[in-house]
Amino acid sequence: MQSTTKRQGLSPIDGRPIEIHVESGRIAAIEPLAGPAPAHWIAPAMIDIQVNGFAGVDYNSPDTPQEDLARSIDVQIATGVARLLPTVITGSHENICGSLSNLARARRDLPNGEAFVGFHVEGPWISPLDGPRGAHPVQHCRAATPEEFDRFQEAAEGGIRLVTLAPEVAGAIPTIEHMAKAGVVVAIGHSNASEADIHNAIAAGATMSTHLGNGAHQIIPRHANYITWQMAADELSAGLIVDGIHLPPAFVKVAVRAKGANHVILVTDAAPPASCAPGIYHFGHLEVALTEDQCIRLTDSGRLAGSALSMDRGLENLIRFSDLDLLGALRAGTVNAAREIHLKAREGFLQVGDPADLMLFDYDQASGGVTIRETLLGDLN
Ligand SMILES: [Zn+2]
Repeated sequence: MQSTTKRQGLSPIDGRPIEIHVESGRIAAIEPLAGPAPAHWIAPAMIDIQVNGFAGVDYNSPDTPQEDLARSIDVQIATGVARLLPTVITGSHENICGSLSNLARARRDLPNGEAFVGFHVEGPWISPLDGPRGAHPVQHCRAATPEEFDRFQEAAEGGIRLVTLAPEVAGAIPTIEHMAKAGVVVAIGHSNASEADIHNAIAAGATMSTHLGNGAHQIIPRHANYITWQMAADELSAGLIVDGIHLPPAFVKVAVRAKGANHVILVTDAAPPASCAPGIYHFGHLEVALTEDQCIRLTDSGRLAGSALSMDRGLENLIRFSDLDLLGALRAGTVNAAREIHLKAREGFLQVGDPADLMLFDYDQASGGVTIRETLLGDLN
């Protein structure tokens, strides 16, 4: 006999109390709940498609111990995340392949490794210019080739789902075509693209902008610029780092309106010091400092190098900064991400038959505060 677990909460769809029955890791039934309503909410658990490390653990090192990777997953689960794409940034070929291979082993072998639903490779085929390059090491920025992608994919045991590149880099367009044909999602980021470069990337198969508004020059032409062109391109969804540091609230509000509620994706872009005490940490080839005000910066240049954000805090900020209500913000951190990375099983929002990736949380409508109580991982297969 199959055992049934039950979880109750208010539904973000209509605010009514529901009871969800879970069997074999799937939602077996969703029933209206009679009697006194619970004070907390229930929703699909979140998906973070851009995370470079967490809880002091670096996803950009081939040498990160497996038990540290397991611990970093548990800490993220406590923030409402059930699935994530560990993200490997620009580095030497050996460092990228070694990091991917170490992460692929974790995905295959760790008891909670199934939280890794694939990998995001951000770089190394990005702009070498100050500004668009962000914190990525300039000496490792290079031209794109389908052959290097194939070697990354081999190291990742076929797990790469998302690649961020700059379409103006030599070899980018044929590499986008090659990856899109292989079913990999391609995003524009860390780029100094012209309008034509952006259209060529879309024609070749790009469907997303990575952390729109970041990885950019401090000053750009007021109208003709790569942020406006990407905002205007309906073919592109946009990832947004909503920590209140990378993007001002007004930019988040405008970007959500420009893209539409179904095409914004909440990401953390968390770096290894996220959820740690202030101090000095390592992030791939980089040395970074987490400051008291929750900024993570390169120790040499002071440039932002990822965030200290968690998805629960991002959810709160997205509600505060944009026109999205709780349901809209939850969708940005769940189904919008699933649709973009072709994670079909997670495209539903509280539907019978969905994997029971669920989170229970308190939500204070007056302050917009979110407190995660419990996160469940269901069966994706
Ligand atoms: Zn980036």
